Amino acid sequence: MSDIANLLDKLAHNKPIYVGYPTATDFNNTNCSELLNQHLNNIGDPFKSVSCYSTFSHEVAVIEFFMRLYQTNKDHAWGYIASCSTEAIFYACWRYREHASKDAVLLSSEYAHYCVPKIANLLGIQHRVIASHSNGSMNLDALRDVITSTPDKSYILVATLGSTITSSIDDAAEAKLVFENAQVEHFIHLDGAFDGAFLPLVDDYALGKNFSSVNISGHKFLGAPVPSGVLLMEKQFVSGKYVEYINNDDVTIGGSRNGLAPVFMYNAIKDLNSERGMRAKYLACLEKADTFLQILQQHSINCWKNEKAITIVLENVPESVFKKWHFPQCRHRATLTCLPKFTEQMLHQLIADMQNPDAIDMASAKRFDYFVNPL
Ligand SMILES: *Cc1c(COP(=O)(O)O)cnc(C)c1O
Repeated sequence: MSDIANLLDKLAHNKPIYVGYPTATDFNNTNCSELLNQHLNNIGDPFKSVSCYSTFSHEVAVIEFFMRLYQTNKDHAWGYIASCSTEAIFYACWRYREHASKDAVLLSSEYAHYCVPKIANLLGIQHRVIASHSNGSMNLDALRDVITSTPDKSYILVATLGSTITSSIDDAAEAKLVFENAQVEHFIHLDGAFDGAFLPLVDDYALGKNFSSVNISGHKFLGAPVPSGVLLMEKQFVSGKYVEYINNDDVTIGGSRNGLAPVFMYNAIKDLNSERGMRAKYLACLEKADTFLQILQQHSINCWKNEKAITIVLENVPESVFKKWHFPQCRHRATLTCLPKFTEQMLHQLIADMQNPDAIDMASAKRFDYFVNPL
């Protein structure tokens, strides 16, 4: 078999256990195949001069689509498609650190993504963890305690709009009140890597009201075959310098940027029929999550979910089940993501394994390696 056939074979083998990580696989980019033989590069600001090899028109269309979801527009906000959500969050924190009048301190909850302390480290600023409630959402009394004990700082709060393990939501509106009552300088970023693609379709999230920036991953709910992350930010925090060499502004973290990712994201949104289809996809996933939760509980499996989440949290998962199934885990919690790829047949296999973990055939469960010819 060819190297590519070997790789495809491995991916197909692992498909039946791919129930945890929140990456959608319901997409089709066959119309892009000719693009794989073209050079594409979105270097610079997608809203500035159009370059010959860019996919800026796709990128701007995707950004303006998310601006609409977050009730803003290009007069008030700016955005670009970063290589992943980590980069988008890093970007927002970096821009605000430049803007802050005092030493910046990065705050996030116990259930925030692992990238947040790394971002603090990269920016050379302090990171403090705020306690979470048991469902994962930030305890705002703990937030109040931290900022009132050290008010002479500029705080950056990365609030999760769907934490990775429990899809919990940090209340940005209430957090903002906590900052305002304590009269401390602050900036709120919403990390909506997964849930940020659909929650604005059913609830009110207005950029510039309770938060100043947000990120949404392209490869999670939406479905892009490569990592990607949209960043939206209030314009006042964004600035770049004109570079003659590229005839555009240097305003992003990377120089050269992936020109395919915006096309994939555009395709995903278009194929879903924009807001309407995305809302329908979310509601179908939500119904699946509620149904699967009931089935799991009928089988006496210890699990629960947050109200608007399409992810189910399994408690105290046996070690061998952790090892076989491909899901994120943290503190004896594992996450099932009820995307279209997660079928009822897979659920029943998982239940069988939960009920009889010693019988799991680990050897054939999943494959990591595949053969490639040496170069
Ligand atoms: C996946 C995820 C991230 C990081 O996304 P990458 O694209 O892997 O950098 C950040 N926050 C949350 C809540 C996530 O689920």
